[in-house]
Amino acid sequence: MGELGLLGATISGYGCAGVSNVAGALITRAVERVDSGYRSSMSVQSSLAMGAIHDFGSAEQKDRYLPEMAKGKLIGAFGLTEPNHGSDPGSMEAVAREHPHKEGYFLLRGSKTWITNSPIADVLVVWAKLQETGKIRGFLVDRKQCPAGTLETPAIKNKTGLRASITGMIHLEDCPVPKENMFPEVEGLKGPFTCLNSARYGIALGVMGALEDCIDRARAYALERKQFRGNPLAKYQLVQKKLADAATDAAYGTLAAIQVGRLKDQGKATPDMISMIKRQNCDRALHNARVLQEIFGGNAVSDEYMIGRHVANLYVTQTYEGQSDIHSRSRLGQKERERERDVVVLLITRPDIRSYLGTGNYRHPGLRLSHLVGVGNAAPAADPFAVIERDTRCGMKHWHMGRPVVRPPDPGDACMYTNLLYAQILDLLCRIKTRQTCIFSAGIDRAPGPLLLIIDHRHDP
Ligand SMILES: Cc1cc2nc3c(=O)[nH]c(=O)nc-3n(C[C@H](O)[C@H](O)[C@H](O)COP(=O)(O)OP(=O)(O)OC[C@H]3O[C@@H](n4cnc5c(N)ncnc54)[C@H](O)[C@@H]3O)c2cc1C
Repeated sequence: MGELGLLGATISGYGCAGVSNVAGALITRAVERVDSGYRSSMSVQSSLAMGAIHDFGSAEQKDRYLPEMAKGKLIGAFGLTEPNHGSDPGSMEAVAREHPHKEGYFLLRGSKTWITNSPIADVLVVWAKLQETGKIRGFLVDRKQCPAGTLETPAIKNKTGLRASITGMIHLEDCPVPKENMFPEVEGLKGPFTCLNSARYGIALGVMGALEDCIDRARAYALERKQFRGNPLAKYQLVQKKLADAATDAAYGTLAAIQVGRLKDQGKATPDMISMIKRQNCDRALHNARVLQEIFGGNAVSDEYMIGRHVANLYVTQTYEGQSDIHSRSRLGQKERERERDVVVLLITRPDIRSYLGTGNYRHPGLRLSHLVGVGNAAPAADPFAVIERDTRCGMKHWHMGRPVVRPPDPGDACMYTNLLYAQILDLLCRIKTRQTCIFSAGIDRAPGPLLLIIDHRHDP
């Protein structure tokens, strides 16, 4: 894979191919057509281990690991899941504390399980809580730097799925890790979730490859195998329906994933979209593979016909990187929050700018714009009114009527302007019974309740 340029293919530089997200996912589809286990090893190396180093590593960490990982000379692993915390990684117990005697070192302690590549990995990306802050941080555990007895990575034997990829545990017993091996900036679940987001995208198209292989094999078998008056199984409509359902899901799933990949290439894909296609494609691939398996009758039980192997593998793809139900839970939770999250955008513009407002400028995934109010000469354009008029709970329609809410008598008088503005905001809040006011520059999607978003464009050129 390294020789072919398949590892870390979407990364630019460091000897990587630098292809688009769509091209990267087409690679996963081609590899997964052979076996989901090969694709898993490749994805962990590419999206999870190299992706983490590329996105969050220091320049020195990138230079040290990425070129050799791209060649496949160094193998990476990604340790998030723990024996007691799988779907809920935020509760992880692995911890990093200052080394009591050795300056510039942490001691890592904890266990990770079901870690792809761990028994053969040279460098393990381990997520653990920094004792000092309680925040999750990423550490590069370099096997050759670990003293004997501090790092064990036993293989998990006799797996029923993904048998072509090696999976194991990570045991850290006060393993000394130099401070320069910690990712310098990233904190919390943002680190692991960013990497998972990329890997999940690859899985969404990858599993379509496995499903296509199931369809091809089932079709070939149904044409060949004859039952009842010498008819091939493929002549029976019940069998045809199984193939038609599977082919339809494969086509829809492939197109959806390619579209999300195109958006990802344009920087427009959201985690929701990726969650949705990962969940849907894994569910449909597993469901259809199980149904197609029936076409093989008793032969499905033999490894020779390959279909059982795909079914066992696809169970894992539906489970790892967020089990299917967990993805549905996050989407439904998101919807729940969205329902509550009315947003008032209060836009402050320069007095010489007219018709500045447009809902398109203030869209944010997970937010529903309920009111748009102009200050200065910022008169809401026609478009926002459609939004406002739909939402008449607060009588806002009659309040501003599309004209400037505040026109400061002297725009040069900052103090007057500010006081008027606050008075206006308070009035606004009373009227719409906003339960919570926040002024955000980031992290909007995590806050509960309605928001007041104040955007000050006065100094924009
Ligand atoms: C072959 C293989 C390779 C893997 N590779 C890696 C790897 O490289 N790195 C890594 O970090 N991890 C890896 N994993 C771990 C994988 O990500 C976890 O197995 C997965 O996240 C699920 O966690 P869990 O097994 O602890 O299940 P649990 O979290 O115990 O969940 C069990 C079941 O309960 C359901 N459930 C849990 N909470 C809720 C809830 N609140 N509401 C409704 N249902 C709920 C789940 O949906 C699931 O069906 C791998 C797993 C396998 C099998």
